[in-house]
Amino acid sequence: MSEKPRSEVVDWIDALLSWFSKHGRKFPWRETRDWYRVLVAEFMLIRTRSEVVEKVYREFLERFPTPEHLCRADLRDVEAFFKRLGLVQRSYRLHSTVCHILHEYGGVMPCSFDELSKLPGVGRYVAHVLLTRVCGEAVPFVDTNVIRVLRRFLGDEHLDTESAERWLLNTVPKHVLEQVNTALLDLAALVCKPRRAMCTVCPLASWCRTSASRPS
Ligand code: SF4
Repeated sequence: MSEKPRSEVVDWIDALLSWFSKHGRKFPWRETRDWYRVLVAEFMLIRTRSEVVEKVYREFLERFPTPEHLCRADLRDVEAFFKRLGLVQRSYRLHSTVCHILHEYGGVMPCSFDELSKLPGVGRYVAHVLLTRVCGEAVPFVDTNVIRVLRRFLGDEHLDTESAERWLLNTVPKHVLEQVNTALLDLAALVCKPRRAMCTVCPLASWCRTSASRPS
C-alpha cells in the first residue's frame, strides 16, 4: 500500500473536509450520540441507501422512541418497519441487541469492541461506528464504499478492510478521523460511485492514483 508524504496528507484532508462542509449529507443519525438511535440507524443502513432509510428511521423512532419502548414491543410491529427495507431478519437482531443492553448492561452500551461484537447483528463495522459516535473513540469505520474510494485513491485494488483501517489510523489525525471517515462515505455515495467515478468534480482528484484528471 502506498504511503503519502506528510504535506500531501494534510492537503487532501483539507480538500476533503472543505468539500464535505459544502456537500456533506445531513441525516438525523449523524446529529446524535445516543447509542439507541445510532444503533437503530446502523441496523437499517446495512446494504440500504441512506436516503431510503431516513423516512423509515424517523417513523420508527416515533413509534419506539426509547430502548424500553422497543424491548416491550410486539415483534411483528418492529418487523413491519424493517420489511419496508427488505431487512426482516435485522428487526429480530435489533430487538434482541437492544433488550440485551437494557437487561445485561443496565441500559448503558458497553464501550468495548469485544463486548459489542458479541451482540446479535453487530459486526466489525457497526461496532466501530458505535465506538466512534457513541464512545468518542477515534476508530475508522470502513465499509465496502469506503474501501472502493480508498482503493482508487491509493491505487491499490487489493486493499482490504483491516489495511484500510490501519492506513486511516496512521494517516489521519485522530481529532478529524470521524469527520474524514464520514466524508469518505459521502464521497463514495455522491462522487466516487461504484460504476462512475466523477473525477472532474472530486476534491481528491489532485492526489488520487487513479484519477483521470490528476496532474502529471
Ligand atoms: S479522483 Fe476519481 S477515482 Fe479518485 S477518489 Fe475521486 S472520484 Fe474516486
